[in-house]
Amino acid sequence: MDYDPDNIFAKILRGEIPSTRVYEDDETLVFMDIMPRVDGHLLVIPKTPCRNLLDASEGQLSAVIATTQKMARAVMKAFDAQGVTVQQFNESAGGQEVYHLHFHVLPRHDGVKPRAPGQMGDMDAIATHAEKIRAALEG
Ligand code: AMP
Repeated sequence: MDYDPDNIFAKILRGEIPSTRVYEDDETLVFMDIMPRVDGHLLVIPKTPCRNLLDASEGQLSAVIATTQKMARAVMKAFDAQGVTVQQFNESAGGQEVYHLHFHVLPRHDGVKPRAPGQMGDMDAIATHAEKIRAALEG
């Protein structure tokens, strides 16, 4: 399968559509999921193109995993979480909907189930959650 340069995360990387960004470095970008399953649900992507785990280079994977760990620690702190769920889907049959490699990071609390998928979040609440994560990264 080829990489589609017009996928929605490629457009976010190019600044063609808006996103609520929380972190970036030379190789990775982190922004809030617009349909958050839990408060603080974010996405980690490489800045360079690849569809998913199946075609990613070792360099892309190591950069994305390092940032995913950084974000896992940040959301634990920002949301006083008891755990973190990391999810990653590959191809349609594997549950993937956007074909640019991404890892979901979800802060978790005992006994709190994630919301159903596919529900648009409140953008003001998402902005507040992003600010908490930025503060945790700085603190
Ligand atoms: P999946 O490919 O199954 O991991 O799902 C793609 C994820 O991207 C879903 O959780 C969507 O809510 C999220 N998503 C789709 N469009 C956007 C967008 N424009 N900004 C932020 N997150 C998005």
